[in-house]
Parts: sequence; C-alpha cells; structure tokens
Amino acid sequence: MKRRIHKLLFFFILLTLCSFSTGLRAAAYSDEGMIRVGLSYSRGAQLSFNALAEEGYELGYFDGDTFVKVGRLSNRYVAFCRDTTLSVHGNTVSATGSGTVFKPYHLEVAYDFGGKADAEDFIDRVLEAGYEGEIFPAYLRGVWRVRIEHYSTPEYASADADRVRAFTQGADVTVVGLEEDVITVVDLNSPSLVAELAAPAGCTPAVRAAGEGNTLKNGQYYYNGAFEFTRHSSGSLNLVNTVSLADYIKGVLPYEMDGSWPLEALKAQALCARSYLLSNMGRHSGFDICSSTHCQVYYGTEKETESVRRAVEETMDEVITYEGKIIGAYFFSSSGGYTESAKNVWGGNTAPYCAAVPDPFENPDSITHFSTTVNRTQLTSLASYLGAGIGQVVDCYVSEYTEPAHNVYAVTLVGESGKTYTVKGCDNVRIKFSSYVKSPRFDILSGTPLYADDGQLPRGELAVVTEDGLDHVEDRFYVIDKNGIERLTRGDSDGTFTFVGSGFGHNVGMSQYGARGMAEQGYTYREIIHHYFTDVEIMTLDEL
Ligand SMILES: [Zn+2]
Repeated sequence: MKRRIHKLLFFFILLTLCSFSTGLRAAAYSDEGMIRVGLSYSRGAQLSFNALAEEGYELGYFDGDTFVKVGRLSNRYVAFCRDTTLSVHGNTVSATGSGTVFKPYHLEVAYDFGGKADAEDFIDRVLEAGYEGEIFPAYLRGVWRVRIEHYSTPEYASADADRVRAFTQGADVTVVGLEEDVITVVDLNSPSLVAELAAPAGCTPAVRAAGEGNTLKNGQYYYNGAFEFTRHSSGSLNLVNTVSLADYIKGVLPYEMDGSWPLEALKAQALCARSYLLSNMGRHSGFDICSSTHCQVYYGTEKETESVRRAVEETMDEVITYEGKIIGAYFFSSSGGYTESAKNVWGGNTAPYCAAVPDPFENPDSITHFSTTVNRTQLTSLASYLGAGIGQVVDCYVSEYTEPAHNVYAVTLVGESGKTYTVKGCDNVRIKFSSYVKSPRFDILSGTPLYADDGQLPRGELAVVTEDGLDHVEDRFYVIDKNGIERLTRGDSDGTFTFVGSGFGHNVGMSQYGARGMAEQGYTYREIIHHYFTDVEIMTLDEL
C-alpha cells in the first residue's frame, strides 16, 4: 500500500512539473508541429525585448510543445523585461539610463485569485478605494496574485506595508522582488508596470499575439507563433520564436529565393529548406535552429507571398532523402553550366548525393559572368597573404580541372625562383581567389591584353593564333561587332592574368537559377530535385 502511494505521488509530480523542453521531444516532426527558432540569444541576450501586437497578447508558458494560456493582456506595445531595476525612455529599456524608473521590489497581496480577471476586479476595488500608484496582476507559477508599488530595497517596501494594507481589504501584503524566473511587462506607450509572469518549474514563459491571424513584432520583423523567453547564464533574456514548421519555412523561403519566382522553383527550394532544417536540428542548445546565416536566415512573415505560401503548403511534410535519411540539401545561386560534386568542392565523402551534373537550364541572360584582370604585383600580394613563400609571382595558371564538369580544382602560382604554390579543392580556390572569381567555373588567361577602341575586349571570347604569335597585331587586326568595325590595340605587356568565368556560389547541389529555368520550361519541382540531387527520394515526414 505504501509503495502504491509513492507511485501515485511520483505520477502526480510528473504531471505537475512541465516536461523539460526540447530534450524529451519526440523525434517525429511535421509541418504542423512546433519548432523553436533562436532570434536573439547568447551574446544577443538582453535585459528586455520590445514587442508590438495589434490586439495585445495571450500570456502563458510552454509545457513541452503545448502553449498554456493563463490570461490576456490588452496593451499593444510593451517590453518583456528581466525582473530588475528598469529605466524606460521612449522605446528603450535600460538598467541605468534616464527616463521612468521601475524598481524591482513590490508588495504582494497574499491571496490566490481565480484568474487574471479576478485579480483585475480586486485591483479595480483598490483603485476605487482611493489607492494611487502602481498596481498590477502577476501570474506566478500557477497562481494569480496582485502586486503593488515598486521599491529599491525590501526595507523600503516593508516600511510602506502598513500604508498599503489600508487598501487591501483585509488581505496581508508581503515583500517580493528581484526574482530570477519573473518576466516584468512594461507598457511602452505610457510607461507603467502592467504584469509579471513566472512559469511553473520546467516550463518557459511565453506570449502569443491575441486575436485571429495577428503577429508579434520585434525590431522590424513580424512573427507567427509565440515568443518564448529563456535565460542566458548571465540572467539576461533570450528571445525564441516558437512557430509551426510550415510557418518557419514560409519565413525562410523568400530570403533564399525571390518570392516572385515560378512556383515549381519555390517548391523545390521549400524542400531544400525543410530538409536543411531537419538535418541540422540540435546545432544549438535551448532551441532547434537560429535565424541567422549560421543556420538558415529567417525573418518571419514580412516577405511571405501567395506563391511562398502555396510552395510550402503544396509540399507539406516533404523532404529530400538519401538512403532513408534526410539530406543537407545544398544549393547556390548559379552554376554557369555545370554543377560540381561535394567531394571536389569540400573534400571527404560529404554529400554523395551532390554529384556534378550538367546545368543547361539557367537562362543565359541571368548567368553571372565575371572577368578580372590582375598583374604580377597583385598576385604577389595575394601569394604573400596566403603565406605561399614563393616571392615575386611570375605565373599563375589552372593546374587541374574537375572531370567531367571542367570546373577549377587547382590553381598554381609560380614564383621568380621557380618555386610553386598550389591551391587545391574547388571551394578553397573560390574562397582564396574570391577577389577575382565568383564560382569555381573559370579560366585564367595570361599574356598581353588586347584593347578595342572603347575598352578591353572580354577575354576568353576571342582568340587569335598565328605562327608569329601576337607581336605584330596592333594596327592590323579589327573586329566587327554590332557597333561596327573596331581596331584592336595592344595593352600593357608586363604580364597580366585575367580570371574569366561564370556562375555564382559553391556549385554544390541545386542551382537556383537552374531551378528557375527548369520551372519556366515546365518541369515540376520533383524533376528539379531529381535533376540536381543524385539517387535521392522525396518522402513525407510520416513515411520516414
Ligand atoms: Zn545557427
């Protein structure tokens, strides 16, 4: 019998405590399920976060993925703050600035109210009795209380207790303040304390926008879902947006691909974004994914278009898989003609499903072309910056192309004494020569540039080979183009190198301009995915 009571007690405790956040969550995700996006955390943790919601807020907390509403707040423009001394000046809440100061100690009426409305009825009666000063409801770990005034020390609060008791209709008051788990809510339109909120143990205080279809604004962006306020180890607040997976993808998509692009291209991008999210869960602790380029850029609802909505909803729960696992679905802007294998770009055995594939779909008008001419002095500075140790550079050439894509795998710099320095790996080359190239798809033309009357000719698009070389070409060679006949003249012959090529980005996975081209030519998002990713399957999350 005794054991049984213990068991019941154990279950009761389990029911009372909220389950501990992300660690215990089921592994299964869906578009309708919730994910947590870190908006401002760690070094971005703050004393307070401003928020705007058209019809006010639902106050509450998260018990696992469930939002438990405890009351409604009608104030629209507020700051959610740490429970400490707060100076409010215009839109700014600071610890020590000028403005209206709210001190952290209060007197609390020792009575459990049935809800926020009961607490507010009590507040009305206190005000009717002639009380003038700060008085506000507070939800504290399961009960609604009323708190009065603000003091800089517990002693000042205590000294004022008798004066306040005269208004509290027989209820006692006790001194409270500076609580680690309390969120203080300040109205920013007319600075005043409007509520305090502390979640039950193991749960996180949170708010949602009240009213159908309303969003929460923080900074310049609007968000669906809820704001959760977790704690940084310093005690400052982290801001986490808890949002449905579908709404999250809608807030990512238009920052990766223009929301006005063809629907099938957006759908392919939606699969990449969903797959990327789910294959990158757990890079952070306290939330699932961050909103910066470290994970995937996400700025809420602002750029959502009808096409973006459709792209997400018509691909509900769909992800790209390889050998039964969700892939890190890489993508980039433009290949310039041929994508590259992840192996050649990043080395190792990463992403075998990203093989090099021909990319004839990019609209020629939208392909990025680049051409940069540099001299030996510039290459010498670069070599020195790269720590090549080869002295003055006298030559620079592509020493290895990939097969079959013919992207650049290695570039060699040659020093005066014949010493060489070779940069290997497509991404290494692209990054180390990033002042000259935008993709690993280029050639290096060395020698003497030829100029037409109105400027240097684009290298790589014109080649003249004669038995005599190019020594006597000036004043004797002409080109005919749409502008008429132009005479060629020789440029400075001190040894220049022209990096000429096309494409933009690392060239691994899906080319976004290619996806756009395929969509414009009538291909479906499934055909787009299967073109750029090799041996993959499109599956829904419940099939996994
Ligand atoms: Zn991140």
